[in-house]
Amino acid sequence: MINSVKINTEKIFEGLGVSPGIGFGKAHILESGTRDVVEYFIPDDKIRAELDRFEVALRESIAQLDKLRQKASALPEAAAEELGYMLDAHIHMLKGSRLVRGIETYIQNHGVNAEAAVKHVLVDITKGFKALDDAYIASRQSDIHQVAGRVLRNLTNTEHQSLKDLSDDSIVIAEELTPADTALMHPASVAGFCTLLGGPESHTAIMARALGIPAVLGAGELVGEVGAGDSLIVDGGRGKVIVNPSDKTLAYYRKQAAQIQEDISRLSHLRNRQAITNDGVKVILEANVELPLEAELVKENGGEGIGLLRSEFMFMNRETLPSEDDQYEIFRDFLLQMDGKPVTVRTLDIGGDKMAQSLIRDFGDSICSPLGMRGVRLSLNRPDILETQYRAILRAGVHGPIRILLPMVTSVDDVRQARRILHAVAAKMRHEGVELPQYLPPLGAMIEVPGAALAADALAKVCEFFAIGSNDLTMYTLATDRADEKVAHLYDPLHPAVLRLIQFTTQAAIRNDIPVSLCGEMAGNPKYSALLIGLGIRDLSMGASNIPRVKQRIMNIDATAACAHADTMMMQTDQTRTAMMLESFNSHFDQA
Ligand code: PEP
Ligand code: MG
Repeated sequence: MINSVKINTEKIFEGLGVSPGIGFGKAHILESGTRDVVEYFIPDDKIRAELDRFEVALRESIAQLDKLRQKASALPEAAAEELGYMLDAHIHMLKGSRLVRGIETYIQNHGVNAEAAVKHVLVDITKGFKALDDAYIASRQSDIHQVAGRVLRNLTNTEHQSLKDLSDDSIVIAEELTPADTALMHPASVAGFCTLLGGPESHTAIMARALGIPAVLGAGELVGEVGAGDSLIVDGGRGKVIVNPSDKTLAYYRKQAAQIQEDISRLSHLRNRQAITNDGVKVILEANVELPLEAELVKENGGEGIGLLRSEFMFMNRETLPSEDDQYEIFRDFLLQMDGKPVTVRTLDIGGDKMAQSLIRDFGDSICSPLGMRGVRLSLNRPDILETQYRAILRAGVHGPIRILLPMVTSVDDVRQARRILHAVAAKMRHEGVELPQYLPPLGAMIEVPGAALAADALAKVCEFFAIGSNDLTMYTLATDRADEKVAHLYDPLHPAVLRLIQFTTQAAIRNDIPVSLCGEMAGNPKYSALLIGLGIRDLSMGASNIPRVKQRIMNIDATAACAHADTMMMQTDQTRTAMMLESFNSHFDQA
């Protein structure tokens, strides 16, 4: 529930706190700009094709707005109405309005590219508005700029480029941010961000946590309440956004931020200690990474390796696929930075909320569907992409221990096919005289689809390791979109069905004598540590900054007690009761 309380000039808004920490800064409202548009000449015989290209960008823009419109309808009434009204106006402008007709005519009459036509028509319309000097018209002008910006983004296949050149201490405000947008943010200049839409386990939220950027998603009531340059505080732990904070509020939050910093420093002495329970059970703590700049964080936080390298981030924010060399260099650098510690590279897991423009053109809507062409399915459908990844991984494998992880595996056949391709690629590279590691890297499967979890015994026979993806496993088991704030309350990894699938997968791995880790967001939350250890997990991979807190928790746990308690919890059928039992078990350690 999102509430707004007015205190003097200060305003407080609430949404979903998805990335803890407190950010202080100035609002940077993310609108797509029309800067840097390149103009070029289109010959007569190519005008039709240029109009078609514009038409495709229009259709994409309308589809995006329709999607936003659907999401907006679930916000609280006032916000839904306001945002809905704005989005309707935007959709309307893209359906045969003066803007659209003007652009089409401009392309035909002046023989220029669609981007340039958008820019020229926008300038004309703006001039006309200025002459009218009317407040209502002025507000429409900002809508037209936003709409034109969206069309331009779709024409040029670019994300919000303005994220790259932010001034320090910016707090980004946007209707919605994709994981690709988030990947462009640098923690040194972004003090926090808030969006009107977005769910707690979306990849945008995961990226924010990975980069240590405080973030609040789903704060729909912010619409129209923040102006560029307004002073803001983002409390990413409690899900609050404070606009124009009073001195008293500022002082309060400065104290909170100092406390958080103190807690982080207090745990820094754990960096070189092992995570061993009170009764001597060793738990491996590794890191999940997306971007090269995270390698430093892994070391700072004492990660024992990289348990999940989400390679899809290399495919975002670019129009072409990354080359073998591009990928090799990134994998090699991670391995060198990890200095002998293992790195598990997950092959491309584009799809769902993670998007790559270079692949949308080939796969269309299917790639956007969580049930469509994504994960290993896409790689098997486009073996050229998988082969390039394998080549890069095999070359990098000379520099340190590397493993290959296949995402969204659903069947034994997925793994068999992927392994056949791996062997063929290695054979070809040997023939070419390329230096390879002595042994082929272990090939493992993400267990993140209920069908794969239930088939874990069969999969264990064709895999060298498992990594349980509790984020998707929860989503698919409960049919609850992890990126949708409307159903965030239903997304619960403590649901008995999810826990049973985790337990079953873990036991299948143990029975078949292969390593198993858990690399979903549960791994990084100390609240779940005792439960996961109780279920038999001995390897957790998480956002690097969570490692110290999870390590501290593990060092206080008695694994035998955790197993006994997990057994009792697994007899529960009511998830509320399960959560209460977990809370009561954890309370011993919370006080420790
Ligand atoms: C998961 O699904 O739990 C997982 C780790 O993969 P991702 O979050 O990248 O989908
Ligand atoms: Mg997943």
